Amino acid sequence: MVRKNPAETPLMRQFLEVKADYPDAIVFFRMGDFYEMFFDDALVAGRALDLTITSRDKGRDDAIPMAGVPHHAARGYLMRLTDLGHKVVVVEQMEDPRQARGLVKREVVQIITPGVVIDDDALEPKRARYLAAVVCGEGGSRKPGAGAGSGLGFGLAHLDASTGELRATWVANVEELARELSRIAPRELLAAEADLAPDGELGELGRRLAGCVFTRAAPAARAEADELLSGLAVDAPVVQESGPAERELAERAAATCVAYARATQPAGVLPLARLQLYGIRDAVVLDETAIVNLELTETLLPGTGGPGGRRSGSLLGVLDQTVTAPGGRLLRRWLLYPLVDVAPIRRRQDAVEFFVERQGVRERVRRQLDEIHDLERLAGRASLGAASPRDLGQLRASLARLPHLAAEIRAGAAPGFEPPDLLRIGGELLDQLAELHGELAAALVDEPPPIATAGGIVRDGFCPVVDENRRLADGGRDAILAIEARERERSGIGSLKVKYNRVFGYYIEVTRSQLARVPADYVRKQTIATGERFVTPELAELEAKILAAQETLIGREAELFRGLVAQVARRTGALLAAAAQVATVDVCAALADLAHRSDYVRPAVDDSEVLEIAEGRHPVVERAVGAGEFVPNDCRADPAGRQVLLLTGPNMAGKSTYMRQVAHIAILAQIGSFVPARAARIGMVDRIFTRVGAADNLARGESTFMVEMRETAAILAGATRRSLVVLDEVGRGTSTFDGLSIAWAVAEYLHDVIGCRTLFATHYHELCALAESRPRVVNLQAAAREVGGRIAFLRLIIPGGASRSYGIEVARLAGLPPAVLARSRDVLAALENGHHPGDGDGPQLSLFTAPPPAASPAPEPLAERLRAIDPNTMTPLEALALLAELRELAR
Ligand code: ADP
Repeated sequence: MVRKNPAETPLMRQFLEVKADYPDAIVFFRMGDFYEMFFDDALVAGRALDLTITSRDKGRDDAIPMAGVPHHAARGYLMRLTDLGHKVVVVEQMEDPRQARGLVKREVVQIITPGVVIDDDALEPKRARYLAAVVCGEGGSRKPGAGAGSGLGFGLAHLDASTGELRATWVANVEELARELSRIAPRELLAAEADLAPDGELGELGRRLAGCVFTRAAPAARAEADELLSGLAVDAPVVQESGPAERELAERAAATCVAYARATQPAGVLPLARLQLYGIRDAVVLDETAIVNLELTETLLPGTGGPGGRRSGSLLGVLDQTVTAPGGRLLRRWLLYPLVDVAPIRRRQDAVEFFVERQGVRERVRRQLDEIHDLERLAGRASLGAASPRDLGQLRASLARLPHLAAEIRAGAAPGFEPPDLLRIGGELLDQLAELHGELAAALVDEPPPIATAGGIVRDGFCPVVDENRRLADGGRDAILAIEARERERSGIGSLKVKYNRVFGYYIEVTRSQLARVPADYVRKQTIATGERFVTPELAELEAKILAAQETLIGREAELFRGLVAQVARRTGALLAAAAQVATVDVCAALADLAHRSDYVRPAVDDSEVLEIAEGRHPVVERAVGAGEFVPNDCRADPAGRQVLLLTGPNMAGKSTYMRQVAHIAILAQIGSFVPARAARIGMVDRIFTRVGAADNLARGESTFMVEMRETAAILAGATRRSLVVLDEVGRGTSTFDGLSIAWAVAEYLHDVIGCRTLFATHYHELCALAESRPRVVNLQAAAREVGGRIAFLRLIIPGGASRSYGIEVARLAGLPPAVLARSRDVLAALENGHHPGDGDGPQLSLFTAPPPAASPAPEPLAERLRAIDPNTMTPLEALALLAELRELAR
């Protein structure tokens, strides 16, 4: 038999028509219980998902490759594809194939892209999923090396389609763009084709944004943007650092996101209520490396020193005691955008303090919060037309909690006083939502089902049509029971049963032994092994009534449900506003809970340049080492006096921990949180830069030293007098003399030119000499003591520079063989006396003999230690520790 070309069938033509509209996407084509993929889609998805590739026309040369996934398991496959960066178009059958004449009608119902996911199961509860868009301004920024002010820069927007969160900003150059994108961590970035080319404006970004897919999309033009954004409330940035042209770029970027996300949702409306324009100076500038190195949201990945570790063990992991998903998402945002203005920080502190001081209120509020579902995403799904009856049930339950939540907070305030600003849950908003709650409560059954197409959604007494048909359907079923009883009696067949199946509807079943008694008016329909099945006109008539009633019932219920969803969607704005208030309450109560349980204090925040911490602790390490084991340390830094804190001391003594804890405390203070310390005062920090640890970025294939120097260069270029700079072991990646010279020059530059608060850890104790020529350099050391040739860490940061690095003792702890240790002691002694280990005139050093006595007598340690003391800068705690140390030395 000659068959025609497989691609010429009506079905394939239908498929190819869809495919033509979405050449860059994988098309999930619904066929009965499967989604099928064809041609290259089948090959690509087959490889990615490990599916068997088959064909409808086996054995032909032009057979079409095909792969399928069962529809009930499709979601998992879909998510794996989008995680790999694919875009998937879902095509559904729009009519029942059994009733369709000819080809089943099919339509695109949803497009899922890495950046636009609305399916709740596929989203992380406490993390937004962002689509971002960049729009390049005309002008000078296209020239390589062009910096701020040379052109119009870029508009940058991000959107979470599941909640309608939409924000946009403007950045001056590619550096700022990359930095802001690393903070947003979008899953998909829209940009113009030309800009994404390898030599284009954004070509360089590709290497730097992990886990982000780049999608070509024409930026929205100005008129188009106005239209796309019309009706949205627009929040203006706090810090106005740009003019109308820059604002237009930001808005066009926002509109680009909206246009793209809208096109993926042909069946619903994006839950958009407002566009938040923000200035990147509204928040502390966090360098890409600071987010990673300070382990703000995830730990460093062991072995690579890069991002990608776990959330637990990060600062967010400790901080996040929120009970709602929107609260979790908000806290993440607070953490990544610490504030630079004192007033809003104090407002947050007031709210946190309110809950710290009222444990009972806090606990009751948190119990209410626990009953509130993800209002943002519920509102989002209603707006997108994707809400289920169960979703509306959750919404109803959540709305019922809001008045209680508001009442608990009000009850916590003293009579006549209002609770802090941030904790007010709006009166008018509550009224609007009470109305919605009333509508849902009146209409929905107590436990609504997960799907909308099988009835059982609407409460009795709500709709006469529903009641009537429900009664008819139920009554019909009762009538059938009555018929069964009557027929048993009439025929005398005690085992007679009325049953139902999909093929015959209602029928009477009689077992073989009783067949002789069957009344004459029964119509035989089927013979089965154990007996026979009959129908009667009466049953058929009843059945028709029941089915008709049921059909009307389900249809009416579905219609009423759609009406309810529309009622919810109409309140999207109010719901999102209430969700934001609830999230704020959750975050403040969570921060208070942490502060209370972990003994944090409210820091003073002001516009000074001082950073002062008494008995500070590292929020994460303190948990790891256990209660009471962590040794607190003070810190005082300010550009006027103690500007560069030069920290020396052996490895493992606690230098990195100390520096990170200072940075963490500054960040916590500026997000409005309490801080792990006895007391603290933080003068606003505008940017935080870090170069921490020997993080060799082998994953990126760059040499350690190159990365280190690039990061250092970025710090020197970007830091201002208000910044906080944390440098660990600069210069380690190269030879000793190079490294020392670079570290020296960097420290001088920070002191002489930038003047910012700086923590500078180094193993070059030669650097301590800097304090003699530079007035604002202060030497500190992580104290260690040697007892019987062994090293003990005190975890105390004390004044003065370390005289030696104890590297060999640490090497011993690490298990280096004794012979190697002995030899390194020899070499060290020789070097310290100005000899080269190979010099003929130095002491004769040989590898496997006992070390010779040192050439000059070792300095008296007690006297040396005493000379290093600066009593003016010591805290009582340090003095005590010093006493202990001196006593140890004297033994
Ligand atoms: P360094 O940077 O000097 O090499 P780290 O800061 O990495 O040292 O500290 C090494 C380990 O010492 C940490 O992992 C931590 O467990 C412990 N540690 C550091 N500081 C303290 C402290 N203040 N109290 C208790 N343990 C600490």
